[in-house]
Amino acid sequence: MFGDRHTPKSGRAPLLHGWQPYSRSVIDVEATTYFLVRQALGTGKVPAPQAGKALAVVGDAAPFEGELQRDVLLCPLSAANATALRARLPWLNPQPLGLAKSAGCGDRLGLATPGHVRAVRAAGGKVPAPQAGIAPIWAQQSMRENARTGRTPQQVIDDAMWGLFQEGWREPWGADADHLKTTADVDLCAAAGYTFYTVDPGDHVDNEAHTASLEVLEGKVQRLPWDVLEDSPDGLRARYLDCRSEVEGLSIEFSPVILARAAAKYGRAIAHTVRMYRHLAARVHDFELEMSVDETETPTSVEEHWFIASELGRLGVRWVSLAPRYVGSFAKGVDYIGSLAEFEAQFAQHAAIARASGPYKLSLHSGSDKFSVYPIVARHTRGLVHLKTAGTSYLEALRAVAGTDPGLFRDILTLAREHYEVDRATYHISAQLSKVPAPAAVSDAELPGLLDEFDARQVLHVTFGSVLDLLGVRLLAALKADEEAYYARLEAHFRRHLAPFMD
Ligand code: ZN
Repeated sequence: MFGDRHTPKSGRAPLLHGWQPYSRSVIDVEATTYFLVRQALGTGKVPAPQAGKALAVVGDAAPFEGELQRDVLLCPLSAANATALRARLPWLNPQPLGLAKSAGCGDRLGLATPGHVRAVRAAGGKVPAPQAGIAPIWAQQSMRENARTGRTPQQVIDDAMWGLFQEGWREPWGADADHLKTTADVDLCAAAGYTFYTVDPGDHVDNEAHTASLEVLEGKVQRLPWDVLEDSPDGLRARYLDCRSEVEGLSIEFSPVILARAAAKYGRAIAHTVRMYRHLAARVHDFELEMSVDETETPTSVEEHWFIASELGRLGVRWVSLAPRYVGSFAKGVDYIGSLAEFEAQFAQHAAIARASGPYKLSLHSGSDKFSVYPIVARHTRGLVHLKTAGTSYLEALRAVAGTDPGLFRDILTLAREHYEVDRATYHISAQLSKVPAPAAVSDAELPGLLDEFDARQVLHVTFGSVLDLLGVRLLAALKADEEAYYARLEAHFRRHLAPFMD
């Protein structure tokens, strides 16, 4: 899409003493050649994801900072060099992906993007055709994850960018600022160039309303922020009561109690989303929005989904995807827990509403490893779907290390068991520590298999912050010592995620 002069010429990478080129990265643009290299020998302890790698520039290298080796400028993978490279190679900038079927590949370590790229390529990933391939979101991280990994929103984008550059990805890709709760979060991510903003108004959802009586609900409705909602309780009732909507054979009707429950439960969340959207629209020219209430306690009914979409639309919000709280449990890193029949019945209705009210995509958060629901989701969304994964890439890193460095994996497991009860606090998970074996009780050969056990997976999943704090340097060094092993595991694992969506 960028023309012939951008066609990579892999023969152009010159020989560099002590460095090996990544052949897929080599690209020649306007008489300047760019490619990524890694140190040929072991790099010992590496403190950062991109240490031991460099950008090589031959030709017009003026905006880059580095050291000359013959006629090649070897540049550290710094923020300044990332910015300079994005200015030269425009496809290294994230961009909005619209309604294309998409997958978000969160990466807590900053090393996984090459594996993600290989999986999406293998699945036939290209945009913009909405029904074919998968549009990738290579950078995706919530503020909570940034706090735990010690990375900034900018580093998350830069790490993903170096990964896709390494693999020679030249198609559009997105960057998801996930689970934003405040306008300050928005500002940080806008400065870093994110394109996809996931607004999480979950703190403003009134879960009590789920079971409250009509009398209590009406009191709650009275106290909603009607100024932000540009409405009144009477106006609300006039719009929703005594009228019926037909959506693909599904009839949506609001009784006084259903309406009061929807408004009481989600009214403040809608107001918060409107505030966040307007803040964003005033600062970022080209962006797309997701509204997400997936991390709340009570499921979003079909009427409530309709209500949220209608109200956001009335208030001028535009969005490309929405994540209701579905029935059942989407626990981190393990398959769906709940009745698949009940999930399918409701999901089909949510998908119909997303088509009729938007269209927009239905978003599947905590979408890692939900192998039993993917066929249902793919069938009913008909391509209007966004799949979010994050922690599963970290778990595949641990699986790789369990094979290549059993001693390190045992230390990680010991630490995870010690920190689980504290670290689990902000997650919806149910693992029991008593079901996770002590490292001494497991042979080396059995260690990778722990990544297939429900309780061990969850315990390892939610303790990543503690592990990165205390063992992060060793973990990164082990992965980088055999990065192809990690990429291969990621590719295989993500192909299983994407295959159900490719039919
Ligand atoms: Zn989420």
